[in-house]
Amino acid sequence: MTSVVLEDVRKSFGSLDVIKGVDLTIEAGEFCVFVGPSGCGKSTLLRIISGLETSTSGKILIGGKDVTEAEPSQRGIAMVFQSYALYPHLTVAENIGFGLSLARRPKAEISEKVKQTADVLQLSHLLDRKPKALSGGQRQRVAIGRAIIRNPQVFLFDEPLSNLDASLRSQMRLELTELHAKLGATMIYVTHDQVEAMTMADKIVVLNGGKIEQVGSPMTLYNNPATPFVAGFIGSPK
Ligand code: ADP
Ligand code: MG
Repeated sequence: MTSVVLEDVRKSFGSLDVIKGVDLTIEAGEFCVFVGPSGCGKSTLLRIISGLETSTSGKILIGGKDVTEAEPSQRGIAMVFQSYALYPHLTVAENIGFGLSLARRPKAEISEKVKQTADVLQLSHLLDRKPKALSGGQRQRVAIGRAIIRNPQVFLFDEPLSNLDASLRSQMRLELTELHAKLGATMIYVTHDQVEAMTMADKIVVLNGGKIEQVGSPMTLYNNPATPFVAGFIGSPK
């Protein structure tokens, strides 16, 4: 299992300072949630961890290894976005196995791994369907399946449930929490939704204006908010 460490990470777009010195340790196997208002830099920070964005300065260590300069494919991570981006002309099985096909893995291996992955996500009965014949929750599970099949050490989720309706969202929250328990992988989950943060996280990182306001367990933030911002945002009566 793999830890993720950020050391004084900063990011500017031109003269706009978006990430203003973030130091953070996410333990191996932890479910860590980044929460904060829209525009506070959550997605940018996640993209820097994934390697889709380069930081202006600072260091990123994954599993103790300095990956600051590494390509996304070299980081042992998988990213799941809010837009599912499934291939409409491919079946569920082909969508899930797509990355392995690209990597030219043997057909038998792909089909075995697709089966295992579909089993974990309760998609086994849907393998021959096309995305348009799936519900929103099923599509999101296929998108997660595409990430899982590559056996990543670290999962990054950027508001993966925000396109779903409320009841499906709470069901998917439970499923993701179960998935975390099953896989034991390190997960970093971005949301602007306090309820998601409070119900899913081992550790919550509250971001505001490109800086960390507080890091702690849901109970710690609730009972001992470090700043009025955290108190207001998490919604405790203090
Ligand atoms: P969040 O995910 O918390 O809503 P983002 O990380 O998407 O916030 O954005 C943080 C800030 O950085 C915003 O002010 C946004 O406009 C700005 N920003 C993000 N990406 C870029 C970019 N590629 N170029 C310029 N500004 C950007
Ligand atoms: Mg965002």
